[in-house]
Amino acid sequence: MMSVKCSRCNRPAFYYRPYSGEYLCKKCFPITIKEKVRKTISKYKMLEYGDKIGVAVSGGKDSLSLLKILTEISKGKGSEVIAITIDEGIKGYRDEALKLVRKVSKKLNVRYTVYSFKDLFGYTMDELVKIKSNISACAICGVFRRRALDIAAMEEGVTVLATAHNLDDTIQTFFINLFNVDLKRISWISPISKPSNLFKIRRIHPMIELYEKEIALYAYLEGMPLQSTTCPYMEEGIRSEIRSYLNSMEDRHPGIKYNIYYAALRIAERLKSEVKAVRCKLCGFPSINEVCQVCQLRSTITKIKSF
Ligand code: SF4
Ligand code: ZN
Ligand code: ZN
Repeated sequence: MMSVKCSRCNRPAFYYRPYSGEYLCKKCFPITIKEKVRKTISKYKMLEYGDKIGVAVSGGKDSLSLLKILTEISKGKGSEVIAITIDEGIKGYRDEALKLVRKVSKKLNVRYTVYSFKDLFGYTMDELVKIKSNISACAICGVFRRRALDIAAMEEGVTVLATAHNLDDTIQTFFINLFNVDLKRISWISPISKPSNLFKIRRIHPMIELYEKEIALYAYLEGMPLQSTTCPYMEEGIRSEIRSYLNSMEDRHPGIKYNIYYAALRIAERLKSEVKAVRCKLCGFPSINEVCQVCQLRSTITKIKSF
């Protein structure tokens, strides 16, 4: 790599991008990432002039990078960016992440706001994992976090909610849902969910066409702070097997992850017409069943606690 020149500017290259055949230097690489996000935004018409953009920021490298890129991209477009963090209540882990979000938001001059599981649902994750149920910690956490973000977005009055899903997350989730024969969840795969009469806020995933390892490299080159702790409740299950299988496929067939992604989008599009969202009869939030997952979880927790 030492003697190879950057395909864009002739400086010494430090990274080879197998799926495009480009060599990139440390200066051009972050520019290509920002360009890719910009292209994804314009391809799927994700942003409009004057948007109030809520960015879901967990404190991980992906969401901090998204916050930085969206703040830079939206400058001069009459838009406002707000960092929204959900505090699940995981001692040690989330506290550190919150500090990182605060630090990066300050540096970017972006307002940040925190909504907690405890305030919204009455329990922290530390309390929820002690209630023994057959539902995994990550499943409980994911359901409550999605709802917490929706509530935060509504309360903050944002017009668009951006989350940092990347290409790898998206195709891993596609396979997990495929193996579970969960066609409803496959139908949700999309770079953008347009507002509806059930939920008036646009949801967008501007990094959905970026490889996870390239976002990690971007975060490193841009000096993003890295979290030193991992979540004590993390249960990767089949996801880590799918991740290593897809990574080894990508090594042998550069670009195959993109093919899977586009296939997943087309399958999701076909399935969408079969899956109708309704209002949860208990809480009124959009749901694919009569009673939404949040209300189902809450009633399971209440039942277990009353025993
Ligand atoms: Fe929640 Fe699981 Fe992530 Fe921990 S690893 S924050 S429990 S989803
Ligand atoms: Zn260059
Ligand atoms: Zn509900």
